[in-house]
Amino acid sequence: MQAQILRIAVFAPLRRLYDYLPPEGVTVREGVRVLVPFGRSRRIGIVIEVIKRSDLAPDRLKRVIEVLDLETLLGTEEIGFLSWVASYYQHPPGEVYASALPVLLRLGKVAPSNSAIGWRLTNEGRSINPEQLRRAPKQAELLTALGHHPEGISQANLTADYGNCRPALLALCERGWIESQQLQLLPQVSNPVPAPVLNEEQRQAVDAVSSTEGFQVFLLHGVTGSGKTEVYLEIARQVLRQQRQVLVMVPEIALTPQTTQRFGERLGISPLLLHSGLSDKERALAWSQAAQGKAMLLLGTRSAVLTPLPDLGLVIVDEEHDLSFKQQDGIRYSARDLAILRASRAGCPVVLGSATPSLEALHNVLNGRFAELRLTQRAGTARPPLIQLLDIRSAPLEAGMSKALLAEVGLTLGRGEQVLLFLNRRGFAPILICHDCGWTAQCRHCDARMTVHFQENGLWCHHCGYFQRVPQQCPDCQGPRLITLGQGTEQVETALQALFPAQSLVRIDRDSTRRKGSLQHMLEQVRQGKHSLLLGTQMLAKGHDFPNVTLVGILDVDQGLFGADFRATERMAQLLIQVAGRAGRADKPGRVLIQTHHADHPLLNLLIQQGYPAFASEMLAERRAASLPPFSHQALLRAESPRRGEAEEFLRLALGLGRDQAMPGIEMWGPVPAPMERRAGRFRYQLLTQSTNRTQLHRYLGRWLEAIEGLKTGHLLRWSIDVDPQEML
Ligand code: ADP
Ligand code: ZN
Ligand code: ZN
Repeated sequence: MQAQILRIAVFAPLRRLYDYLPPEGVTVREGVRVLVPFGRSRRIGIVIEVIKRSDLAPDRLKRVIEVLDLETLLGTEEIGFLSWVASYYQHPPGEVYASALPVLLRLGKVAPSNSAIGWRLTNEGRSINPEQLRRAPKQAELLTALGHHPEGISQANLTADYGNCRPALLALCERGWIESQQLQLLPQVSNPVPAPVLNEEQRQAVDAVSSTEGFQVFLLHGVTGSGKTEVYLEIARQVLRQQRQVLVMVPEIALTPQTTQRFGERLGISPLLLHSGLSDKERALAWSQAAQGKAMLLLGTRSAVLTPLPDLGLVIVDEEHDLSFKQQDGIRYSARDLAILRASRAGCPVVLGSATPSLEALHNVLNGRFAELRLTQRAGTARPPLIQLLDIRSAPLEAGMSKALLAEVGLTLGRGEQVLLFLNRRGFAPILICHDCGWTAQCRHCDARMTVHFQENGLWCHHCGYFQRVPQQCPDCQGPRLITLGQGTEQVETALQALFPAQSLVRIDRDSTRRKGSLQHMLEQVRQGKHSLLLGTQMLAKGHDFPNVTLVGILDVDQGLFGADFRATERMAQLLIQVAGRAGRADKPGRVLIQTHHADHPLLNLLIQQGYPAFASEMLAERRAASLPPFSHQALLRAESPRRGEAEEFLRLALGLGRDQAMPGIEMWGPVPAPMERRAGRFRYQLLTQSTNRTQLHRYLGRWLEAIEGLKTGHLLRWSIDVDPQEML
């Protein structure tokens, strides 16, 4: 028999695979973890291919020290998918495989077994009279308890009720009287909550998806409150009935517990959750359950897209335009794009939902790659909000609020309705300035101003977290008059409290919700009508419904109109429409007032008068004219170093290497300083590569990065490649 050679993705930041021999006399399968000698240390890796011949001479091949799994952890499909991820995002394969595993498995621990989850009686067990077990009282007790619960009892509940009962359970299992089970996968005992009767548009959307065989991307483009979730629920129900798996991806789970609850209630099964709020053990458990296939619904954030799902039958990406689907460090993948890839490999439909689809998605509708499903009406009786611009040029402002806005706030509160005010800036004020000499408080580690936080009586850098006390006097001229410019939510809160002392106000931003569970608590209180005034940052824009809010005020839309990034306007429009959509869901129509110094801004007016689709077509025309994404493809090489000049020099060398490999249609721009050149004490530069031909760009990137890896200076600083970058930062 020919010796096996194992091609292994070693969990290390190196852009290649390594060949090893199996331990003496052991046959190894693909998809298992192994411990290998690596340089002077040991590393864990995963066998991704068993081959016959290596490029290395046989006597130079080292042996695997230990095989860590008896069963394959990753199947052929998973390995194929993850290899694609590594090659598309130009990322070290070992790191890609490692991040697809839950932390416990990454560290070489044993996968938590499903037997830990729950137990139920076997047929044989049901015929046993617990009286027979008088000599083993614990076993008798457990047998009785399980007899009362034919659906099974979780290990956790058994332990809670009977203490350490594992030996007794194992004994019963050995006798064949009980069996372990995957409790979470069982249908809940409760009956599913009935669905509303779908309207015509919803019905058509459902039919389009369920009559599809094989892979197809659908863009479910529905105005806020149009009942997109009802469409997801119905198609998910059909796929679950076929005993297949459904992957639902949402921007943030912790913020929207009601989504989880809604899926559970309607479908009659508890969704398997996967998000950053879980413990390592819970994650590992959810991961292994998903990997075992069978009907179930996995509801997760970004990283859920890397979970093995052997019976995948449907993928849903809610709020597909949301930036949180793009990972901004490590493997800079787009979970939305990977969701599409997974669906295509699994041969199943994928539904991307949004009220404000990304320009990428709309472009793909226009070129026929995606099928668009429109929901143009709000569901039920709800009417769309009325959106108006408030010209605040030369208007006197109070904490950033105009008289006209405050008057409307007063009237709305007077009617006993709720008001939501939106300002995407936390803290008290973005600038502390000396009234005598013009000194401003800058972060000593970043090219950024420190934000004044009143509650902490301090200055905070929102980019690196540096904190200091507010100085008593100006550090430059020793003058006593330090004043603030501009306003954040903290300041608006104080002003509102003074203006409307009888009203209960709640401020929702990152500072006010640091304590675990405090956000949920606040949102619940809002829903119960305990607060009449809501003030917050974009945390409020993420999918929460406030049926009693009839007035939304957007205090400052101007920051979004002049962002450095070419995507800034698209993001401003999405945020604006999303915030506006929180209002007037039920029978009360909502009103949205937008304060601006640029009331004639053409794009802003287009957005408000003709809506997001018209705005998006205009943006697409601009992008086409400028040959920007989605009409071209980009990759951004970033470098940063604590030493001035080093990152720029490195990128210059990289540019030189790129020129050597020149390919037609590949353009390079830079190196240029990042929009914030110094952050957290590092000088940051970037080099942009662009092409209208994606395949060409990728061929080029592969060769180019290999050359860059050979640069000695590359080991002295941090550098990374970002394929399809979403932010220039
Ligand atoms: P979206 O996901 O588009 O924001 P939802 O699915 O959350 O919208 O629906 C908004 C509200 O309308 C929810 O309260 C939902 O229960 C209700 N709804 C959705 N579809 C219908 C329908 N066909 N009939 C009645 N109410 C509906
Ligand atoms: Zn001064
Ligand atoms: Zn800083």
